[in-house]
Amino acid sequence: MSDLTLLYLLLVAFYLSECSLWARHGAVVFVGALGRGYRVDTLSRMLGNANGRVVMASALPPLGGAVVTEPWPLIVAPGGVLGGEVWVPFGGGSVAAHHDGRAVWVVGTGRTARARASTAQAAESLAKVIARVASATDRAQAVGQALDHAFDVPHAEARWKSAVSRKRTLTWLAHVVWIELFILAPFMFAPHSGTVLFWMLGVLVTMVAVAFTFQSAHRALYASSRGDRWMKLIEVGFFPPAAARAHDVLLRESMAEHHPLAVGAILLEPGRFAKLARRTVIELRHPLRRESPLSPEAAAADAWLRAEILARAEKLCRTRDVDVESTPARSDPNSKARCPRCDAEYARATGDCDDCPGVGVVPFV
Ligand SMILES: [Zn+2]
Repeated sequence: MSDLTLLYLLLVAFYLSECSLWARHGAVVFVGALGRGYRVDTLSRMLGNANGRVVMASALPPLGGAVVTEPWPLIVAPGGVLGGEVWVPFGGGSVAAHHDGRAVWVVGTGRTARARASTAQAAESLAKVIARVASATDRAQAVGQALDHAFDVPHAEARWKSAVSRKRTLTWLAHVVWIELFILAPFMFAPHSGTVLFWMLGVLVTMVAVAFTFQSAHRALYASSRGDRWMKLIEVGFFPPAAARAHDVLLRESMAEHHPLAVGAILLEPGRFAKLARRTVIELRHPLRRESPLSPEAAAADAWLRAEILARAEKLCRTRDVDVESTPARSDPNSKARCPRCDAEYARATGDCDDCPGVGVVPFV
C-alpha cells in the first residue's frame, strides 16, 4: 500500500469519525438524510456502554445530519435538584448551577450534584433553568414555565427554521470540501497530474470560507456559547474532514432546549412521531426501579417532575391525534399478562417484567 493510499484511507476514517457522535442513554437522536426525512436513531443502540452510545449520522449522501435532544439529565423540582444519587435542597441556602462543557454542576448546602448531558447546549440550557428556579419565589411555577418552554412546539419550529436558514450557505461550502477530499483528491494525486498545488489552494480557500461562515452562523444561533464556538471553529477551520461536516455540526445541538417529543413533532412524519410519542408516554407512566432507593424527598421530587412532564407529553399527543392508550393484540393465546412498558407477554399473571425492573405485568382481561 502506497503512502498516498494510506493517507486517503486515514482521511476516510477521520471523516467517518466526524459523522459519529456520543449520546447518553435517554437522549433521542434524530438522524436525517436527503429526501428521506428524519428518523429516530435505533440501530446504533448496541454500540455503547452503561452511560451512552455511539450514533452514526448518514455519511452518504453528505447532506445527512443528526440532531441531538434529551430530557433533563437531572431532576429539578420545587424542593431541590437530584443529580445521580445526590439531593441538593433549595431550602437550606443559596444554590448555584453552572456548566462545564457537557457537565452540569449544582452546588448548595455543602452538597454537589453533577450530571452529564449529551451536548454542551443542553448542559448550558439546564444550568440556566436551575439558576432561575433556585432564585424564584414560586419554584413550582418556575419549573412549570421551563417545561412549558421545552414543550413549546411553535417556538421549536421557529428555532428549527432559523437554524436551517443559517446553515444553507455552509452546507454548500461543506459539500465543496467533501467533493475536493473524496472525489477530486484521487485524481489530483495521480502520477503526472501536475495539479496538486491547484487542488491544495482550492481546499485552503474553501476551508477559510467554511470557517468564516461557520463562525457567523454559530454566533447567530448560539450567542452565549463563546467558548464552545471557538473549540468547534478550530475543528472545522483546521481539519478538512470536520469542515466537510460543518453544516451537521452547526445543527446538531440547535434544539437542545426543547424536549425530544416537541422536536419529534417537527422533524418526524406522523407515523414515526406516533411511535416516539407512545414510547415516551409509556416510559413516563411506567418508570424503571432505580438501582439504589432514593430518600423520601428525592423520590417525591422524581415523581413530581415525571407527572409534570407526562401531563405535557399527553397534551401534545392529544393535539397531534396520537393514540397512546391502545395496546397491541395478544400474540400468544396462552399468555396471561403483558408488561405495560415493553409489551412482552407472560404465561404468569403476576410479578415484575423480567426486562423492566419495578414494572408489574398486567393480566389480560
Ligand atoms: Zn417489560
